[in-house]
Amino acid sequence: MIKSLSILGSTGSIGTQTLDVARKLNIKVNALSAYSSIELLEEQIREFRPALAVVFDADRAEELKIKIADTSTKVLSGMSGLHELCHDDSELIVNAIVGMVGLEPTLEAIKAKKDIAFANKETLVAGGALVMDAVKEYGVKLLPVDSEHSAIFQCLQAAPPDKKLKKILLTASGGPFFGRTADELRDVTVEQALAHPNWSMGAKITIDSATMMNKGLEIIEAAWLFDTDPDDIEVVVHRESIIHSMVEFTDNSVLAQLGLPDMRIPIQYAITYPDRVPSLVPEIDWKTLSQMTFYSADDETFRCLAACKRAMKKGGLYPAVANGANEVANRLFRDGKISFLQIGELVSAAVDELNVGKASDLDDVLAADRLAREFVYQNI
Ligand code: NAD
Ligand code: MG
Repeated sequence: MIKSLSILGSTGSIGTQTLDVARKLNIKVNALSAYSSIELLEEQIREFRPALAVVFDADRAEELKIKIADTSTKVLSGMSGLHELCHDDSELIVNAIVGMVGLEPTLEAIKAKKDIAFANKETLVAGGALVMDAVKEYGVKLLPVDSEHSAIFQCLQAAPPDKKLKKILLTASGGPFFGRTADELRDVTVEQALAHPNWSMGAKITIDSATMMNKGLEIIEAAWLFDTDPDDIEVVVHRESIIHSMVEFTDNSVLAQLGLPDMRIPIQYAITYPDRVPSLVPEIDWKTLSQMTFYSADDETFRCLAACKRAMKKGGLYPAVANGANEVANRLFRDGKISFLQIGELVSAAVDELNVGKASDLDDVLAADRLAREFVYQNI
């Protein structure tokens, strides 16, 4: 098992749960980072004593320097600070940043020949071709943290070398608004959208779960990670979030991975892979688990889901457009500036109306992302 790791985005939901796992497994934490939450970062620094802490926001980095002047932790800021984190001497980088801002540090970590425990799905959606090419070129591992992708990854360990995969069955909880019509979604509030039935997560992904954008992003994420045609990925709504996804082989045999809905299981597996060690997460209690239910997904009501499928079919920079439009629309909804249904309308319109080409390099992806963000601001 690895002895050291560094975290991109240590103050978030995945970041703090990664630290729970590192604490339990006695893994040394070499570097921590956050966008601006220096209060929590200071607590983490005092507990884990990393050599480096990066605060993206330069002013907040200066404040942190003063607060932790009595420690030996070096403080850096900005993208250059994240680059330096990627080149430290830890064995694994956990990418728990939210948003495609994680693309540049991901590429940097790969160039530094680091294996990555990967939660930051927006990065793979926006820059999938670049990331997967770099993974091949530098021979590193991209270990999925997203629960569905961890499940698929685990099930695929049983596949023959040529996989013989017929399809991926990507499970979805359906979120807080499962079963509602568009009419019933017109007036939903941010508070209602933030109340996820099964998972406790960061605000952005919780809204993405309510719009089902999250499942759209995950189809694209799975297509890249497992080199699968998006048409061979079927979304199955499974309300209880006990099955975390399944794979179906050529002989119609289906394998599933199950566990309580707690991200510390997939986070730990990405850290200990291919080994398994005892977890902080309890076993499933089969006596109280009375039922598991399955439904199909409604991508007419949840338009983000259909928009992501269209974006992946169009290929090139269209997934980056879908993601960029959603990052802005999701934020505008949380800020009370647009309605819930407008998120799906804006993401769909961006995918259908913008004209983008192929992703040859990072600048292309950043430009498509900017175009999509501007499109949303112009259309509200
Ligand atoms: P979060 O909002 O709780 O945390 C995000 C973290 O990223 C914070 O530590 C924040 O400071 C950091 N960050 C943001 N911008 C940064 C920047 N420019 N530089 C450095 N740090 C930066 O988000 P989360 O829920 O933990 O999600 C993180 C990622 O994991 C997302 O891509 C999400 O889709 C994915 N994911 C999350 C869960 C979950 O249960 N929370 C499950 C599956 C996948
Ligand atoms: Mg997921």
